[in-house]
Amino acid sequence: MSDVINVAEIFGENVFNDAVMQERLPKKTYKELKKTIEEGKELQATTADVIAHEMKEWAIEKGATHYTHWFQPLTGATAEKHDAFISPPLPTGKVLMEFSGKELIKGEPDASSFPSGGLRSTFEARGYTAWDCTSPAFVKKNPQGTGAILYIPTAFCSYKGEALDQKTPLLRSMEAIDRQSIRLLRLFGNTTSRKVTPSVGIEQEYFLVDRDKYLKRKDLVFTGRTLFGAMPPKGQELDDHYFGAIRERIGAFMRDVNEELWKMGVSAKTQHNEVAPGQHELAPIYAKCNVAVDHNQLVMETLKQVAYRHNLHCLLHEKPFAGVNGSGKHNNWSLVTDDGINLMDPGKTPHENIQFLLVMVCILRAVDMHAELLRESAADVGNDQRLGAHEAPPAIISVYLGEQLEDVLSQLVSTGEAAHSLKGGKLHTGVKTIPDFAMDATDRNRTSPFAFTGNKFEFRMVGSRDSVASPNVILNTIVAESFADTCDYLEQAEDFEMAVHDLIKKYATEHQRIVFSGNGYSEEWVEEAKRRGLPNIRTMVESIQYLCDEKSVQMFERFHVFSRAELESRAEIKYEAYAKAVNIEARSMIDIASKHIIPAVIRYVTALATSVNQVHQASSLADTSVQDDLLVEASRLLTETKTALQKLVDVMNGVGDRAEGKEQAYYFMEQVVPAMENLRKPVDELEMIVDKNMWPMPSYGDLLFEV
Ligand code: ADP
Ligand code: MG
Repeated sequence: MSDVINVAEIFGENVFNDAVMQERLPKKTYKELKKTIEEGKELQATTADVIAHEMKEWAIEKGATHYTHWFQPLTGATAEKHDAFISPPLPTGKVLMEFSGKELIKGEPDASSFPSGGLRSTFEARGYTAWDCTSPAFVKKNPQGTGAILYIPTAFCSYKGEALDQKTPLLRSMEAIDRQSIRLLRLFGNTTSRKVTPSVGIEQEYFLVDRDKYLKRKDLVFTGRTLFGAMPPKGQELDDHYFGAIRERIGAFMRDVNEELWKMGVSAKTQHNEVAPGQHELAPIYAKCNVAVDHNQLVMETLKQVAYRHNLHCLLHEKPFAGVNGSGKHNNWSLVTDDGINLMDPGKTPHENIQFLLVMVCILRAVDMHAELLRESAADVGNDQRLGAHEAPPAIISVYLGEQLEDVLSQLVSTGEAAHSLKGGKLHTGVKTIPDFAMDATDRNRTSPFAFTGNKFEFRMVGSRDSVASPNVILNTIVAESFADTCDYLEQAEDFEMAVHDLIKKYATEHQRIVFSGNGYSEEWVEEAKRRGLPNIRTMVESIQYLCDEKSVQMFERFHVFSRAELESRAEIKYEAYAKAVNIEARSMIDIASKHIIPAVIRYVTALATSVNQVHQASSLADTSVQDDLLVEASRLLTETKTALQKLVDVMNGVGDRAEGKEQAYYFMEQVVPAMENLRKPVDELEMIVDKNMWPMPSYGDLLFEV
């Protein structure tokens, strides 16, 4: 790789993007494909053949030998199966490079081992992948220079068309929000916009640790987080890492990550050190919802792959280190028309912008009515350790609007009119050489899980490792419902102006309880939220049921995003995913405690005892009280460890008595997780006193500060 990166030149060089299509495809084919992409028109088989041929030729020029239907099963990760572009051998023994329209549009990867939550049993295993032509295909090169693959983003469905993946409901929800937003715009006299698409920008947090040290931590290897570990003497209290200068090794890593992403058309833009030592963030520029979801998967995969190349390991887990800041993902979301109107843009005088006010109160209504679903969409095994841990948004959904909008809202509620908007003032720095600049009318509130940030909402609960598909499915659908109800009413109104006016006031009043601008991390908020009747759902397991409650099923079926069966299957998959993850964690703990920690402590205790004897032999007058004390303390903690370990083993033996799915998930949450915490306690105390040379794995300090 050369030293100089020409961003403009390499950006998107491996993407079958609009420019490539325009250049390569016959005009008629290009036009037809555009119609499919923009208007959802069905693609003709002959057209698909032409596109497939050109796509293959282009990919081969880029070095590709295979193609893959790239899909997102319900595992949180992506899946791929590679097929070479070859035809059956000719009589001459040669082969041709082939790729048909049929192969482009539809695949049948079988893939029956992916979770289907009962939608699919292995004996009726047909599963299909279908081309999502609205997310561009790209070539991904193996960094070792050993070949390249054409990636075709797809949706993954069962034989009966039921969604088995993240993508299918996402695309359905995008259609729902499109249709309802257009209805709303038409009511306000907009006759020109033809399509509304959610714009999504994802800020991704992650940790980097040295790979050699990582490999010595079996808990990290097996579960992605540390199951043991005492706090280092220094944490994040000095804030010297946050936004600090980026060290050379990390800088080199980031450079390679950016280069890989840019080539694949991911607009990686912002990078900085995050709050915790060893923690960083990467944010691309926002894109269309489904493309942003695909790109976020590419970001996560690229971070992992490039880290490997730099002898680093990238931890995407939400809480790799207890007591240290965890990682999340901020999901920035807005609605934008094909002709560039952002429905979330308040303009300079929001009180006069009736359409904006209606959109805003519709969103408040949606979030208030479906707070449980939004919470569920961010539920992930790892996120249970992060949400509500005084450094991430709490498990309570609320909305932060900012001073200006809150003021407008309270005018609406109290008088039914909004007569004025607070203006952003001038910011005086007091430094002559720095020009004064106009202040935003809205400050920020970092503790809010759902904050309005000028022209978009930022949902900050999402876990760092999770797919962002489901939060966006929920956002799109709940807002589509709110818009639909609103349009149902307003389309019948005799006096539109009056009706809008009344409706805004009604929604603002009914759903004001969801608005909160104070400190979301405080205990007082937990109490206040309770008084307001807002749900506080602390764990993933408790949130899953909301997918299938009647209110949710009705909404999802109304907008054709999920059927009841699909929702039930998803709930089942989530319960199982939780149980499996905690099962692995508990087994890893048992393994590490029995085979590494207890033997190490025994060695240490034995060494202490031997030392006491030897010192006494040398001189009966010598003081061995330090060794004696340590011996007593270490032995006591050793006993405590063994007892807690046995308890965990016993509890784990009870798993099999519970039915798979919900019952097991609850058992893991209520019985196994506390037993794990009890085992961790004495071990972390032991780590503080046992000779470092004898401790069987690198410490938090080694992992966080020696990268
Ligand atoms: P922050 O506001 O969190 O400091 P940025 O303003 O840089 O950071 O935006 C964070 C993310 O939000 C980026 O991915 C950015 O592209 C995205 N973003 C900006 N404007 C919008 C918008 N209107 N809709 C959706 N995402 C947006
Ligand atoms: Mg942000």
